[in-house]
Amino acid sequence: MSPLKDALLTTLRARVCSSTSDTYTTTEVFTGGDLTTLPESSVTDVQTAYERASRAQRSWAALPVSERLAVFHRFHKLLLRERETMADLLQAETGKARRDAFEELCEPALVTSYYLRTAPGLLRPRRRAGLLPGAITVRELRQPKGVVGIISPWNYPFALSFGDLVPALIAGNGVVLKPDSQTALSPLFGVELLYRAGLPVDLLQVVLGDGPVIGGAVVDTCDYIGFTGSSRTGALIAAQAGARLVGCSLELGGKNPMIVLDDADVAATARSAVRGCFANAGQLCLSLERIYVPDALFDQFSAAFVDEIGRLKQAGGYDYGADVGSLTSQRALKTVSEHVDDARAKGATVLTGGRPRPDLGPYFYEPTVLTDVTPDMLCHRAETFGPVVSLYPYASEDDAVALANDTEFGLNASVHGGDLARASAVASRLRAGTANVNDGYASAFGSTDAPMGGMGASGLGRRHGVEGLLRYTEVQAVAINRFDMLNPPKWLPYGVFSRLMALSLRAMKALRLR
Ligand code: NAD
Repeated sequence: MSPLKDALLTTLRARVCSSTSDTYTTTEVFTGGDLTTLPESSVTDVQTAYERASRAQRSWAALPVSERLAVFHRFHKLLLRERETMADLLQAETGKARRDAFEELCEPALVTSYYLRTAPGLLRPRRRAGLLPGAITVRELRQPKGVVGIISPWNYPFALSFGDLVPALIAGNGVVLKPDSQTALSPLFGVELLYRAGLPVDLLQVVLGDGPVIGGAVVDTCDYIGFTGSSRTGALIAAQAGARLVGCSLELGGKNPMIVLDDADVAATARSAVRGCFANAGQLCLSLERIYVPDALFDQFSAAFVDEIGRLKQAGGYDYGADVGSLTSQRALKTVSEHVDDARAKGATVLTGGRPRPDLGPYFYEPTVLTDVTPDMLCHRAETFGPVVSLYPYASEDDAVALANDTEFGLNASVHGGDLARASAVASRLRAGTANVNDGYASAFGSTDAPMGGMGASGLGRRHGVEGLLRYTEVQAVAINRFDMLNPPKWLPYGVFSRLMALSLRAMKALRLR
């Protein structure tokens, strides 16, 4: 049974911006029973949330960056102190293994400490070269967008909302957050921790409800949208934001490849692939769903990989005993079962797994490895978003790169090899926003100084790094005209002035001044 305390649930419920009496019930994923009841917001509540955040944002943006950051120093401490409660909430509403819950809460901690270090430098006004040296000086300012709408999915509900909203707040914005309805408790607890850390309560608002209706209202009101979710929804949001001329960043789906090079350490690669494919039961946008193996190593790698998978413990439970947890919903279980059943029916070979595990809980599905997968099978190109990976043999390095790049997605990739320079050269040929050498995903994703995001159908914009903060700002150039040298004095004919100006343009170019 869920270890969640009623008092905490009551506090979290009160954090939802809702004026209606409508409620809905979420599921405790390990058992399929009821977890809690949460209030639903209306479209009017979204407007109210926006207005509250917008009022609070003006005073927040006027604070020195150091005062804003003080809140996040305290938040970081509180988050690590309250990590077990956060892990309980995450497990109860997603069914993930506790190690996946712990890894999830590390992301907002890393993002917070990264921007605590870098935000003062990134948000500082910068001098830019003015049009005429000495006469015109220019400063580049970073102004907040206003109120940022953050719309997040169910697979990493805390990491993917807080990893994005922390930099938005640090940059001086207000935020309206719309998490997925099933997985709102962990972001609500994050909000509670931020309030305890001293964030002005109105500045960060949470609305809950149907994706197209309430999420749609967020896109219709906010000044910038940070969206994480499916490519299908991302395209709708981009169109909706575009119609309002409001910017957005989109973190979308993937069909991520791994290439095993012929000099790879097979045993180490098999171990790494297990985490790369089955972390969070494969419900990770960065998960590897395709592995390309040299013909000569195919049997050896397949055997080592299946052997490693055999050692995994799949179970429910609010402790660190399991390596792999549950899928989060009946819908996820249906997609995963459909992909595997379709592949099997069309002639794929199931090397291991390939079935649900109702004996463990209603949505568990075994880590599954397929071979002989052909283009007519669903799992060949479409994102499965579950614990299913296909192994493909390849003949040459160029073939492997072409096969890995044969997808509309471009989120994450992995290359394993003994010669790091060669592996890294192969990685740089892959069309993916992040590419990891000798790892599945965590090396690039955990390196918060590096940008993370997708190419092609995997998204627009980047989280983490410089872009992860600056996307939430409008850049403004403030120019001061110290002596008016842009217009001729009254006594000077314009023809003469233009000759003088042409001379000075030539001179400034020769002297590399402008
Ligand atoms: P989804 O697109 O169905 O929903 C994501 C969020 O958008 C939810 O909060 C949902 O309520 C809301 N929403 C749905 N329709 C909307 C609309 N028309 N307007 C506004 N909001 C709307 O995605 P999902 O099934 O929750 O998440 C799984 C997908 O997310 C997978 O494709 C996965 O790869 C992707 N994902 C990407 C990343 C990344 O960083 N690139 C991370 C995690 C998940």
